[in-house]
Amino acid sequence: MKIYCDNAATTALDPEVIDAIIPYFSENFGNPSSSHWAGRQAREDVENARRAVAGLLGATPGEIYFTSGATEANNLALTGAIKAYGISHVITSRIEHKAVLQTLLAHEKEGDIEVSYVRLDERGNVDTYHLENLLRANPRSLISLMHANNEIGNLTDIRAISKLAERYDAIFHSDTTQTIGKIAFDLSGLEIHFIVGSAHKFHGPKGVGFLYIDKKHRIAPQIHGGGQERGQRGGTENVIGIVGLAKALEVACRNLEENQLKIWKLKEYLVSKLAISRIGDICYNGDSKSEENSIPNVVNVSFPCLPAGNIVALLDQAGIAVSGGSACSGLGTSHVIAALPCQREKENVRFSFSKFNTFEEVDQVVATITEIYKSVRAPRGRELELAII
Ligand code: PMP
Repeated sequence: MKIYCDNAATTALDPEVIDAIIPYFSENFGNPSSSHWAGRQAREDVENARRAVAGLLGATPGEIYFTSGATEANNLALTGAIKAYGISHVITSRIEHKAVLQTLLAHEKEGDIEVSYVRLDERGNVDTYHLENLLRANPRSLISLMHANNEIGNLTDIRAISKLAERYDAIFHSDTTQTIGKIAFDLSGLEIHFIVGSAHKFHGPKGVGFLYIDKKHRIAPQIHGGGQERGQRGGTENVIGIVGLAKALEVACRNLEENQLKIWKLKEYLVSKLAISRIGDICYNGDSKSEENSIPNVVNVSFPCLPAGNIVALLDQAGIAVSGGSACSGLGTSHVIAALPCQREKENVRFSFSKFNTFEEVDQVVATITEIYKSVRAPRGRELELAII
């Protein structure tokens, strides 16, 4: 039996998405820039998808730009805003995704910007007093703070940050990759200037995403070409992906509350099962156990004694996909866990659920981890036998 608990990395395609994109592998092959019937159909499909995405997020179609995913969208937003507005100071945190951190680092190396890192509390939450101090000292900054952290699941109060951004005349970008399709958005009532999405995180295809640029803001285009995406991102549109992204978001938003409640219950169930297991001193990283401060699908755990890499590998041998990192071994070093103040335990395993997971699967995951621990505690020689579960 295969169990997939790595949905923060990517998700399985929803069957409705598969149905929606199949015609685009055969009869619907037009280039949206062509003026004939095939092109006109493709253009209509892309623009319908744009309208659908905008409608679901409380945005307008003119504010949505399709990209190859969230990495590209983050790059376009950050580099595009730095160049368009002559930004010289950026505020971010040390637990952002590399798509943000590496982009900012590259600009810092070039001497374009200075980067300040906002302080985090012991659970990895943004210290808003420090953020306000940084903004007071550096008005007209660009703020880049993610909505939900992909490793520990912490949620950032983007509404509070958007108010600070407004007060200090800052531009606010948020990497919303882990919350699009999981948390309801109404961008019409939110002073946030750039957000991003990636279809494969919400049961859509890989290699397609979007950048939202609110109508009062702009970017300096980075990908020059045939003027697609209203001159902001050249290149023939990924029609298959765009249609799949819009369908995936529609499906996600249709049953959003119901699915998120189910997923939260899976997380709660895992935590309760681990509590009664005899594994020992388990520690939860970040705020991943909190109902208010954490995305429902992510839980990040440090297990005692065993390196995370071993647990991940043994679970994999048993057909269970999770991810893990260790800040001290080379394997999957996590800059997020390493950046948490007071974090003693650097080994960590991330479980991330989706609507396709079941309580029975959680039972199986906990039973397998318990077996792994039994094998470690068993006399030498029995280890291998028990390790191959
Ligand atoms: N930001 C976050 C928070 C992510 O989790 C990811 C995917 N791991 C990305 C950006 C990059 O997304 P993509 O795979 O679409 O480039």
